[in-house]
Amino acid sequence: MSQVKYKRIILKISGEALAGDEGTGINPTVIAHLAKEIKSVHDLGVQIGVVCGGGNMWRGETGAKLGMERSQADYMGMLATIMNGLALQDGLEHVGVPTRLQTSIEMRQVAEPYIRRKAIRHLEKGRVVIFGGGTGNPYFSTDTTAALRAAEMDANVILMAKNGVDGVYTGDPKLDPKAKKYSELTQLDLIAKNLKVMDRTASSLSMDTHIPLIVFNVNTEGNIKKVVLGDHIGTIIEGGK
Ligand code: UDP
Repeated sequence: MSQVKYKRIILKISGEALAGDEGTGINPTVIAHLAKEIKSVHDLGVQIGVVCGGGNMWRGETGAKLGMERSQADYMGMLATIMNGLALQDGLEHVGVPTRLQTSIEMRQVAEPYIRRKAIRHLEKGRVVIFGGGTGNPYFSTDTTAALRAAEMDANVILMAKNGVDGVYTGDPKLDPKAKKYSELTQLDLIAKNLKVMDRTASSLSMDTHIPLIVFNVNTEGNIKKVVLGDHIGTIIEGGK
């Protein structure tokens, strides 16, 4: 454990990262890759909480644009995150990692309800805790959920797993070849420069909790391990500055 920099982490996996190249749905190859990556840090004794997004299936905002009532559309998004959580749980169990899925919206036949103390206990016992259902409230995001659960779990860091992008850039690296990667930023920078890393609610919560955020490319094998061991890959965003 001595070489591990972060002993308790919250890994945020966006819906997009679960979809792979298709951009939508759940890609089993991606799930298997993520499970292997998570296992590699679990084997180091790192305590891991995972927050799944849902954008690969449904976003409340999209429904609202189509004329749906926003909260109703957001509840659909929250349910999408639980489906992703179940898929990831399955993938982790296939590689022998013990898990618990806890949902912010009660669904006792499929998952435990979210109970902070129980979640901490699971982490201490070496179980990967997957947090499904977002915060349980409409108008919020799973980025905010990651910031919130990280604070509640007293995590050392939030790892923001990106699909094919290895950090935060001055522009979209896929469109602008001159775009430069930031090595370090602050949460205030994200707001001031309007960098779309996490939404403002999540940023301001992270500023209050002082929990750093690391944005990195999860597609590259070994990256989660590198981050946990303290290698400076991706972009680190200091909280509270
Ligand atoms: N959502 C919500 N409250 C939450 C978390 C999520 O209403 O606390 C809904 C919201 O509609 C959102 C959807 O769930 O669009 C999927 O979450 P998110 O967009 O954060 O997923 P990601 O972009 O990470 O895939």
